[in-house]
Amino acid sequence: MVCPICGGNAEVSNSRKRRDGFSVWRRRRCRNCSNVFTTVEQIATESIIAFEAAEGGLKPLRRSDVYVSVFKALGGLRTASLTAEQLTLTCFDKILGERTAVLEQRTIEKHIFETLSAYQSLAGQRYLLNELGRTAV
Ligand SMILES: [Zn+2]
Repeated sequence: MVCPICGGNAEVSNSRKRRDGFSVWRRRRCRNCSNVFTTVEQIATESIIAFEAAEGGLKPLRRSDVYVSVFKALGGLRTASLTAEQLTLTCFDKILGERTAVLEQRTIEKHIFETLSAYQSLAGQRYLLNELGRTAV
């Protein structure tokens, strides 16, 4: 990998798998300027998971779409972007834990709702209202 500061070659100095094995975190150090940075290797979910959309047809499941839904459900929390990243990872742990390439939309929504509700009941309710236009599962 190339250093984002100077463009030099960066080598991996530490590497850790997440407990579920679905992503790998790597600490990298630039050989040229000694800048240290972190990369996260994740499954490009849209390449393996599709869902049956409510309006019909299969749609790829994009991490960014889940992130946006989670972020909105946090409702302007000061730390929303970092929290949304972590909660999105948890959502995908559950979604990938289904171990199937095609999911029903409601299965994905259930995992997102449960993840948000476990974090904060209000965030779960906000998700239902924002995404599904209702207030209870
Ligand atoms: Zn560098």
